[in-house]
Parts: sequence; structure tokens; C-alpha cells
Amino acid sequence: MNKAHILGKKALNWGLDLVLPPRCPITGDTVRTVGAISPRAWKEITFIAPPYCTCCGIPFAIDLDMKGLNPDDFLCTDCISSTRAFDQAKSLFVYDDGSRKMILSFKHGDAIHLHTTLAPLLCKTGVEFLSPDSIIVPVPLHWMRLVKRRYNQAAILGNEVAKLSGLTCWPDALIRTRPTPPQGHKTAKDRKQNVSGAFDINPPYTKKLSGREIVLIDDVFTTGATLEECSKVLKTAGARSVNILTLARAVKE
Ligand SMILES: [Zn+2]
Repeated sequence: MNKAHILGKKALNWGLDLVLPPRCPITGDTVRTVGAISPRAWKEITFIAPPYCTCCGIPFAIDLDMKGLNPDDFLCTDCISSTRAFDQAKSLFVYDDGSRKMILSFKHGDAIHLHTTLAPLLCKTGVEFLSPDSIIVPVPLHWMRLVKRRYNQAAILGNEVAKLSGLTCWPDALIRTRPTPPQGHKTAKDRKQNVSGAFDINPPYTKKLSGREIVLIDDVFTTGATLEECSKVLKTAGARSVNILTLARAVKE
């Protein structure tokens, strides 16, 4: 693209902003740039801060005094009682009434530009996962759902995280082998059954995954059933590690 084209595009965006100023998709408030989130929407978000489980990233409801304690020793009961298929998981904020509209707008509401605001924050949250050898792999949608929804929010996020971190993203390394009904209100056990065997490695990547450090990206970590299933498939294909980054994390009431 030459200089004249860039200037023309900037002028067009400036003109559009004058006529249709960008708005926050959550509150409808006017914001400075497309994809920005208004201060009123940010106020509703509960960011995850220590103490949290050092394996799955779930925040602890109790206010622990961490003085003199090793944060690496904090594990939740789920991570103590069962072996996780992934190495570590971290999320940016809690999935609750304050963040639900943001996530749903990004997922279904065509507020696709939210990735410009959310991906840099996700990079900060997962900075220890994003080593120079890491490969970003988003959780895939089944092609039928992709046609219906028109985009995969995890792939958009994954591509942006990769771009900001100077890493490679393999958006099609994982595939869904069958459509799965929405996890919605299913119990943890039903969710596990629902996604069991629903993922596989896209054949061109079978040999490429051996020894790789994978950062698996999705929008929400609910029970972890989907992310566990994807991690299993990646580890079986030879991935050395699978760390998970999600925007939101469901917390048990
Ligand atoms: Zn845990």
C-alpha cells in the first residue's frame, strides 16, 4: 500500500468517525477508537489477581495473606484431586455479570474489533507463556458453526496475540471432528462427554507439533472440558507443553 493510499484511508476513517463516532459495544458510550471499551464498562470487570491456583488459574475466594508463602504452592482442590492435561492456565478476568456482555459481544455480536483492546491485555497476563519458541493455537469451531457465526473469536484473538508477541499462530492446527451442541447449561460431566473425541490434529500439522510449546487460546475457561480435550490431543501429538490463555474464567459460586 503506498503513502497516498494510507493517507486516503486515514482521511476516510477520520470522516467516518465524525459522522459515526465509535461506540463501546457494552455500554454504547462514545469511545476514542473502534474496539475501545468505555470506562463505565471497565468498572464492571473483575480482573484476576493473586492469590489464584498456579495450575488452572482459578482465583481463590479467600483473601490470603501471601507474606512468606510460595505462590507456586497454591493449587485448587480440582487440580490437587485430578491430573490436568494442560500445564498451566491463566485468565484475564472473571466470567460474571460484569464481563458476560463483553464476551458475548465479542463472540456473537460482531464486536470483532474488541480484539484490539483485549489481546494486548492477554499478552500481559500470559507473558510467562509467550516464550520465543511458543506457537499460538486457538480452540477451533466446527466448520458448520464457523459458517453460521462467520468468524472464530479464538482465532482472531490468537492471531492478534501472536502478532503482538512476534510469534507464530497456527489457527488451523486443531480441528473439530464433529459438531458439538453448545455447552451452555450442561453439568461438568455432560460437558466432558459432549466434547470427548471431538478434536483432532489437522493432518498437515501432525509432524510439526512434536516438541513444541503450545499456547492454547480461547475466550472463556468454564469447566475446562474443551480445553482439556484440546490439550490431550496436542500432547498426544507430541507437544512438549500446553499452556492456556483465556479472556475470562468461570468461578464456582
Ligand atoms: Zn486449579
